Amino acid sequence: MIKIYTIAVLCLSAVSFAQEGPFSAEYRFNPDNVDCLPEQSRSAIKQRLAGTVAELKSQGRLSSQMPQGAHILFDWPVVKNPGTTYNNVWSISNHVDHNAAFPNALSDYMCGTRTYDTGAGYNHKGVDIFTWPFTWYQMQNNQSWAVAAADGVIIGKDNGNADQSCTFNSNQWNAVYVLHEDGSVSWYGHLKNNSLTPKVVGDAVSSGEYLGVIGSSGNSTGPHLHFEVYDAQDNLVDPYAGSCNTWNDSWWETQKPYLDPKINAVYTHSALPIFPNCPQVETPFFKDEFNVGEAVYAMGYFSDQAVGASVTINLYRPDSTLAYTSSAVSNNLWYSSYWYWIFGTTQLNQTGIWTLSFTFAGQTVSHQFAYGTSLGAEAFEADRQLAFYPNPANDRITFNRAISNVQAITADGKRVELSVSGETADISGLPTGLYMLRATSEEKQTILKLVKH
Ligand SMILES: [Zn+2]
Repeated sequence: MIKIYTIAVLCLSAVSFAQEGPFSAEYRFNPDNVDCLPEQSRSAIKQRLAGTVAELKSQGRLSSQMPQGAHILFDWPVVKNPGTTYNNVWSISNHVDHNAAFPNALSDYMCGTRTYDTGAGYNHKGVDIFTWPFTWYQMQNNQSWAVAAADGVIIGKDNGNADQSCTFNSNQWNAVYVLHEDGSVSWYGHLKNNSLTPKVVGDAVSSGEYLGVIGSSGNSTGPHLHFEVYDAQDNLVDPYAGSCNTWNDSWWETQKPYLDPKINAVYTHSALPIFPNCPQVETPFFKDEFNVGEAVYAMGYFSDQAVGASVTINLYRPDSTLAYTSSAVSNNLWYSSYWYWIFGTTQLNQTGIWTLSFTFAGQTVSHQFAYGTSLGAEAFEADRQLAFYPNPANDRITFNRAISNVQAITADGKRVELSVSGETADISGLPTGLYMLRATSEEKQTILKLVKH
């Protein structure tokens, strides 16, 4: 279950007030521990993958030599859709459990308890990376992607399974499995139905290449990526090195810190976003253009906010002078949280383009909004943005909404009309190279960059 614990409840009766805030709340992902994948499913998957690898080898499509030398290193397996305005789209709910006892005998790689096990004897075998903020909204709009953590060959794809799980169940997941050159295999589980890369088993993928949209298929309580890794000898790998990981050293190119505080997003809204019960999609109430007198909900969304961490808000007038500043200190460790202030005419005493910024853990992220004016034709609300995936792709790209027309513009200015159908455009006829795409959907027109490999 996903639950929201609201620390402060607001009753807004007027928009002309001195100042409202700070308010804050935790967004709790996955508080009920579930087995991400039943053991019988896991062994069936392993058998199937081994069969596929043997077959690809017999066909000469994979080297039959045993890999030698050091293990590969991973890049991060989650990226945001580049068409979105989030600063970041994820936080971590669970690591691998190194304590073989159960239940409630937990040790993540740093000897902490950011992991889980079950009474049935399952010790969590992957890294759970959940999407934040607006996890269901992100899934609905294809905004957070699982990508290959290293170069490799696809050796398995599972698709066709329901992707809105909220509780313990025996559903099958949608997943992609990638074999790497050192013989290790990485698993990407819980993907959105029908979002998987069009590449097929036996095709090569590059590090960072799109595999699918993060979803909640299979045994899952909300959209997240379950990233599970086996070495060439089929030993479970925890890619994080730490004092309680006695199995292996770090498999990350750059290992992220245990607590990794981040600003995931800064937005303005017309009201407090609604975070309904799983699997209903959040209502974000994004708003970037306000009339004079309307309340502006100025919100920052954070990951890994530790006790004592401070959040600073700054509000700058159209003439760049500081209209408001405040700081708040966290009393809790929250893996995902939001802080907000509500502004009215007292602070918003000029019309024009205002800048809201939040500073947290040494990072500052800003967001512009119009007050008593409009942002102009170039800017539009985040939820209206036109974006596509995958990129890189092989023969087609899929947009986040139906498109009526797409032109590919070459470096020397030639325009190629692409054939489009619903949300997809066919790029099979384009030679490899860099293009600008002029895509039109409803009243929106967007220029996007495409790298055809
Ligand atoms: Zn998991």
